Amino acid sequence: MEALIIVDVQNDFAKPGGALYFPGAERVISPILELVKEFRENRLPIIYTRDWHEDNDYEFGIWGVHCLHDTKGSEIVDELKEALKGYERAFEVKKSRYSAFYGTNLEFLLKELGITKVHIVGLVTHICVLFTVEELRNREIETIVHSNCVDSFDKEMHKFALREMEEVLLAKVI
Ligand SMILES: [Zn+2]
Repeated sequence: MEALIIVDVQNDFAKPGGALYFPGAERVISPILELVKEFRENRLPIIYTRDWHEDNDYEFGIWGVHCLHDTKGSEIVDELKEALKGYERAFEVKKSRYSAFYGTNLEFLLKELGITKVHIVGLVTHICVLFTVEELRNREIETIVHSNCVDSFDKEMHKFALREMEEVLLAKVI
């Protein structure tokens, strides 16, 4: 079974004014919506992650305050919310570290759903996407990275991460 994993497409990353927004981040939204449509039509699971931090989280020392619990910034962007509305095979995973596996039920969820192949998209390429792909690799789950649906504030690191995922983590980058 295939699933779509959408990493951290939240206001704080993808919308102007967001705590860690970078110009152009919103460009991933519309190709991601196309994939959502396709997965919905095929009745395939869609898992979306939300970076989610408690007050004074350790990560704020690195990135400043972002995706604080129960704030507008931590919500997924409206377009995605709309696209997922009423879909019973959409699953939310709240995460507080780069990897979507760390301290979450993602592993359990993938097992329950019988997922053997993952399409991954979202923000940002060289941090949360990369560290999640590394964990998919550890679990021998076939992974496809949609390069038009991922981006980073640092274009060199973005390119590095795509290469790393393709050459070292054996993901398919399309
Ligand atoms: Zn964070």
